Amino acid sequence: MSYVEINSIHKSFNNIKVLKDIDFSIEKGEFLTLLGPSGCGKSTLLRCIAGLNNFENGSIIIDNKNIGNVKPKDRQVGMVFQSYALFPNMTVYENIAFGLKIKKLSKKEIDKKVKEMIEIVELNGKEDNYITELSGGQQQRVALARSIVTEPKVLLLDEPLSALDAKIRKNLQVQIRKIQKKLNMTTIFVTHDQEEAMTMSDKIIVMNKGYISQIGRPGEIYKHPANEFVARFIGNYN
Ligand code: ADP
Ligand code: MG
Repeated sequence: MSYVEINSIHKSFNNIKVLKDIDFSIEKGEFLTLLGPSGCGKSTLLRCIAGLNNFENGSIIIDNKNIGNVKPKDRQVGMVFQSYALFPNMTVYENIAFGLKIKKLSKKEIDKKVKEMIEIVELNGKEDNYITELSGGQQQRVALARSIVTEPKVLLLDEPLSALDAKIRKNLQVQIRKIQKKLNMTTIFVTHDQEEAMTMSDKIIVMNKGYISQIGRPGEIYKHPANEFVARFIGNYN
């Protein structure tokens, strides 16, 4: 049994099918990317895993637990979105500490974890800054820290770099992988950018119109696209 098992998920909005028989698994510590054009169902799938969308059939197992009936807040998944969704009227420290306060950890434990996390995302010296005083890249590092500090079983990243300019984006690609490997964090990363998927992933799922078109390692998908859609989509990569 794999660490995460997504078994035959189907999902419709207003009788229109947007996820069709989605089936895959992820090992502990693996970095998996959902790659596909806008509207193919990537965010909907992440939201199903996070419990923000329900789904019609199928099951989702995380660490041997069927999470279908588990409330979103108890699913032990962390999620980062394209837009930062941070608290602008709180400092960096307070934003990262937020999820730990809800968990009712002691002040001392919270302080230790937040400081460790600030170290990991390299925001030393920014603890007392407000979110509005940070660059876009720094804000995304706070969002990442806030998700990871609660030690989720699975980290869900929905196009976290799409709003950033090219140079910051490249830096953060490397940094996210470094942090993810260091913590052995099982991660599902969403992007519509084939180059980003190719450089970052252990495994890629190419999606098209709610279906999985191909699953494979970056090199396999690049060298042996399973069909014309994948060949064309990946072909933009150079
Ligand atoms: P992606 O993240 O790959 O761009 P989405 O998962 O956001 O795609 O959307 C997949 C499809 O589902 C799209 O056709 C979108 O319009 C539709 N969709 C997403 N969310 C909703 C919703 N809340 N209500 C109705 N349709 C939706
Ligand atoms: Mg999306």
